Amino acid sequence: MEEKNLILFALIILYIVIVFLFSRLGKTREIGSRRLFWLSLFLTPVLGLAFFFSSGHRKMKPFTERKYKCERCGYVFSEEYEYCPFCEKEGVKQELSPVKQYMT
Ligand SMILES: [Zn+2]
Repeated sequence: MEEKNLILFALIILYIVIVFLFSRLGKTREIGSRRLFWLSLFLTPVLGLAFFFSSGHRKMKPFTERKYKCERCGYVFSEEYEYCPFCEKEGVKQELSPVKQYMT
């Protein structure tokens, strides 16, 4: 590999790393880190920054998360199980029902 190509390759890697680190900021924003990553990668982080600032704080709007609730014992799980693990221990096969829970 030529030295010139090597430098170019290193610059591309550096660019992706910068974009990746920058996109992590998007986690706290409505835009999200994944969308910010792709926007910044193709439109440069400068434009990504503009999107970042124009996007509102995630906390301002209610954000719902999918959870699974056991109707028998009332426990809410973040992962989906076929049956409630607690009730299953008691020998009861209780299916979990999906619920939407507000993030705090
Ligand atoms: Zn249960």
